Amino acid sequence: MADLRFSRFRAGSGCSTNWVPMTKSIAFGGNPLNRASEKRGNAAWLAAQRVRGLFLPFWKNQPLLAGEAAALLPGQPEWEDCLTVFLGLEGEEALFAVDLPDDPKPVFEGAAFQEMRPAAMILPARDCAIAGQAKALIDWHHRHGFCANCGGATTAEDGGYRRHCAHCGADHFPRTDPVVIMLPILRGTDGLDDHCLLGRNARFANGLHSAFAGFIEPGETVEDAVARELEEEAGIRIGAVTYHASQPWPFPSSLMIGCYAQALSRDFTVDGAEIAEARWMSRAEARARLEGAIEDGVRMPTPIAIAHRLIRDWAGG
Ligand SMILES: [Zn+2]
Repeated sequence: MADLRFSRFRAGSGCSTNWVPMTKSIAFGGNPLNRASEKRGNAAWLAAQRVRGLFLPFWKNQPLLAGEAAALLPGQPEWEDCLTVFLGLEGEEALFAVDLPDDPKPVFEGAAFQEMRPAAMILPARDCAIAGQAKALIDWHHRHGFCANCGGATTAEDGGYRRHCAHCGADHFPRTDPVVIMLPILRGTDGLDDHCLLGRNARFANGLHSAFAGFIEPGETVEDAVARELEEEAGIRIGAVTYHASQPWPFPSSLMIGCYAQALSRDFTVDGAEIAEARWMSRAEARARLEGAIEDGVRMPTPIAIAHRLIRDWAGG
């Protein structure tokens, strides 16, 4: 158990604490690359790395997979004009992502392009983190070809970590959007066990129950956003908010900030718009559902989602 870290969850108004163990790895996290950000602006250095580096091809935001691994290939002359992003160094080896043209669809023997979500389910942790970093950056380039300041065309600079507008001189940098994702926890009283509240998003028709989530708005702290989202979506008031873990989520470029929130009452009222229904679950029920032991149409988040991690770390087992 040496690789477990612990997040302290303060429940109740007293000094009682729970220690919620957190396993080390999470999908898209644990990126092993040295991003060498101080070298990105050196065009000569980058050009030299391109000659001997390896490239992860992307097509329509999909990484190339060879079996269950990311396909890292030597550079090709025809990729010279493609958008290329410097991902970082692995030892002495430079890794890049290259964005290939939509048409015609590129073909690689023994490899295939795969949507990022299903790819994340099968890729090793290292490959998943590298592919997620690449996907978020390439996706950002696709959506920022024009300057938000003047509308002029922008060009990629600094190994793909900046876009520059020659018309007005503005620089634009890759964005990461913070999202709070949280599990309300009701402390057990009168012989009842602790329970967590899970909601079913109205867009999910397949019975998926998950943690609550929402974008942090300007001027909000993490705690503010957790309280507001839970009030809006579930009509529930909360006390202490405790950070647990975070996850880069490249759809397109979020940082999921996972928290536990102390529920102040058992009562809740879902908004009916974003959240269609919600239910309290004991640790035992949550564990059983994560293990697939209950088949009644209520589904739990997939293992690549931080919601799964929040539930599992709290439920134990
Ligand atoms: Zn501009």
